[in-house]
Amino acid sequence: MSTSTKFEDTTATFTGWASSGSLPLKKFTYHPRPLGPKDVEVEVTHCGICGSDVSTITGGWGPLPAPCIAGHEIVGTVVAAGPQSLRHVGELVGIGGVINSCGKCKDCTRGFQQLCTKKSFVFNDIYHDGSNIETRGGFADRIRVNSEFAYRIPPEISPAEAAPLLCAGITTYTPLKHFGAGPGKRVGVMGIGGLGHLAIQWAAAFKADEIVAISTSDSKREEAKKLGATKFVNSRNEEERKAARHSLDILLLTSNDKDTDWSELIDYVANHGTLVLLAMPEIPTIAVPPAALLMRHVSIAGSLTGGREITQEMLDFAAETGVRPWIITMPMSDPNAAVKVTMEGRPRYRVVMETEAAARLKKH
Ligand SMILES: [Zn+2]
Ligand SMILES: [Zn+2]
Repeated sequence: MSTSTKFEDTTATFTGWASSGSLPLKKFTYHPRPLGPKDVEVEVTHCGICGSDVSTITGGWGPLPAPCIAGHEIVGTVVAAGPQSLRHVGELVGIGGVINSCGKCKDCTRGFQQLCTKKSFVFNDIYHDGSNIETRGGFADRIRVNSEFAYRIPPEISPAEAAPLLCAGITTYTPLKHFGAGPGKRVGVMGIGGLGHLAIQWAAAFKADEIVAISTSDSKREEAKKLGATKFVNSRNEEERKAARHSLDILLLTSNDKDTDWSELIDYVANHGTLVLLAMPEIPTIAVPPAALLMRHVSIAGSLTGGREITQEMLDFAAETGVRPWIITMPMSDPNAAVKVTMEGRPRYRVVMETEAAARLKKH
């Protein structure tokens, strides 16, 4: 079969908002990779802003080798599809942090494509298929990806609300599922923000016995309860902190920095419990007191986004249970304003940028 030139078009030009390692983001045009037989081209309608985007575009995780277009909570409409694509033109899809993998290794075949050594992140990475083409994310008008990593958005979820599920949603859903959040388990969520507000809702949907929201101030006490928390702990309130000692079977740590007190965190975890790290610190090492690991069988784990199957499962579960991010929308035409609001920690709880194409979206 001869390959149609339509699927090898390298003349297309996409426009996005790029960083060279510091703000502001600047308009940047580029040629996407050729549309492969399994690929889709997606007209972006929405893209959320995550802490990882901020750490990348501000240079917090180090210098950027090339102009970087961030954005990994992407929703849009398929406008072109290769002949073997799993998605069709006109379909509304979501794209998260990982957009390709080898498909054959142990991790890929067990549903952990995000751990594949040949995976590609949606931005600031290259395709490891021999092409070495740079990947560019969703702060843009269009994106091309392997359709296996373009997920079906259930009609119950609005496109704007779907966007944060592709990172904040799956990042919190995966560890709660993996570590068995549900009846008989006490789940803690440290940090009530973009990730934490979804983690509380998932834990409630999984019917965990107790859902403890932990924050450094009282400002989110009422909201945490609205989200489904059964208990709220202000970590600066010694009495509340003490009452929660050694109580949590699973504690999700949604953010951390150089001042994070690891012994205080571990102190919340019950014997045999697990502290799960969900966000990469901007420092290379962390100092963990070993006594609790040995004397109380506490584990420290990490969890990175989710594989293909669990990501689709998470979206379908959200549709069924009503778990939704709380968002504010801002225009992508002024991405620096949206990034600023995110960096100031103002949104409750996620900023989603909308492109002009969002207005053209018919109810899907
Ligand atoms: Zn993210
Ligand atoms: Zn693989």
